[in-house]
Amino acid sequence: MRRAAKTKGCPVCGKPVRAEQAPFCSPGCKDRDLLKWLGEGYRIPGPPADEQLLLGRVDSEEGEG
Ligand SMILES: [Zn+2]
Repeated sequence: MRRAAKTKGCPVCGKPVRAEQAPFCSPGCKDRDLLKWLGEGYRIPGPPADEQLLLGRVDSEEGEG
């Protein structure tokens, strides 16, 4: 690691990284990378759309029953 002048681009799309979203360029790429990790861990056989529903239903589940 001798060269430390140039900064690496976003690991998802390769665009310049923003300090607020480091090491990504935008919150969108941050989500994409996160979903990639989740996908590798859970390996859901269905479409990825299910994951978004689950994340949003965490609180509303308590009301029903
Ligand atoms: Zn990006």
